[in-house]
Amino acid sequence: MGRKLLLEHAHVEGIDSYEVYRKHGGYRSVEKALKNMTPDEVVEEVKKSGLRGRGGAGFPTGLKWSFLAKPEGVPRYLLCNADESEPGTFKDRFLMEKIPHLLIEGMITSSYALGANTSYIYIRGEYSWIVKILEKAIAEAYAAGWLGKNILGKGYDLDLYVNPGAGAYICGEETALIESLEGKRGNPRIKPPFPAVKGLWQCPTVVNNVETIAAVVPIINDGGEEYAKLGIGKSTGTKLISACGNINKPGVYEIELGVTVEQFLYSDEWCGGIKNGKQLKALVAGGSSVPILPHFLVTKNIRGEQRLMTYESLADGGFESGTMLGSGGFIVYDEDQCIVRNTWNFTRFYHHESCGQCSPCREGTGWMEHVLWRLENGQGKMSDIDLLADVAKKIEGNTICPLGDAAAWPVNSAIRHFREEFEWHVREPKTCMERNYGLVKEPEMYVQG
Ligand code: SF4
Repeated sequence: MGRKLLLEHAHVEGIDSYEVYRKHGGYRSVEKALKNMTPDEVVEEVKKSGLRGRGGAGFPTGLKWSFLAKPEGVPRYLLCNADESEPGTFKDRFLMEKIPHLLIEGMITSSYALGANTSYIYIRGEYSWIVKILEKAIAEAYAAGWLGKNILGKGYDLDLYVNPGAGAYICGEETALIESLEGKRGNPRIKPPFPAVKGLWQCPTVVNNVETIAAVVPIINDGGEEYAKLGIGKSTGTKLISACGNINKPGVYEIELGVTVEQFLYSDEWCGGIKNGKQLKALVAGGSSVPILPHFLVTKNIRGEQRLMTYESLADGGFESGTMLGSGGFIVYDEDQCIVRNTWNFTRFYHHESCGQCSPCREGTGWMEHVLWRLENGQGKMSDIDLLADVAKKIEGNTICPLGDAAAWPVNSAIRHFREEFEWHVREPKTCMERNYGLVKEPEMYVQG
């Protein structure tokens, strides 16, 4: 199953407790960083590792850290984005539930690197039971001397808090998260200024995802170069994938970046193939906000080459014939699923979660939901399909934050790849409400050979 760096001990009995975690090598990265490394050396190791943000955008973590402004006498903050709320993405939940100390250890080592003396884990409110798990683990870390004043006698102080949100997907956007943490409505800010310059309470701030912060632990333990030996090209290390939908073995898996999509989907080590012997219809590879791929573009790209579980390979072909690794939320559809209904469901989510600040997103998501509902319920017109594509196009790139794009991409890609299914919903309104369309045909231009 390849090397595991984060979930290696996930199934050890009692690993959520400090004693068991410590017995399995826990908090070594803090010891190593505080005793033997300067903060800048920790940042350098993370740069060498090639670690990229695991929340969805995939921005190089070390580079992000190096942007942090360091004005004299101004506090800096590290915020952990644990506001995981995207449909199909549940890997951070698993990590926090099973190995809370891994996140806390990563927070301490990363806070040291950034010169932060106060850090926060901002967690979605719906994960209420995990708040308790984290608070217990934080109390244990304080009691063992890993948090608080003068950690390991090295003169470094750190306080760590858990802050539950109130259940808004938009608070996973870093500036909305900061607004919410400041006690305001979670509206995204216009950037620049970026949080690295003016973040929490107008102070320099880094916001990183749970998995990203946890990955700092093996990077410091083993060295950035060792970490970079795993994976392929600019997709280094391992990645947590939450796999769900019509597969035999849904779950959270840690893969070395670079395994083929085919292996991940069909091997018994991971997803175990499509459930009930059905055929694959489509894949959403990186959480609901990335373009959907039809079956003929899932395991191979447009040139007929194997698709790999990497940032680059999944994006091969751009939005015409590729997608994104995103958050690693893998949603698999079999031949019985309806793409129009699924697209409506995603759009309904984005409309509900839009903060309403900018009109393309606020109005556009509502109209897309409305038109998709019409199509799905046998009341659509042929012109609705182009209307839908036009609304999605007008949202894309025209909003304050990426939620607009996240809402537009599933719609654009569904129409691009499954247009005949949308047309069938108009032509056969009664039939489409009784049964689903099945597989779309591979267009001539995609047929290899
Ligand atoms: Fe709010 Fe949507 Fe605009 Fe983001 S894109 S700021 S969620 S209205």
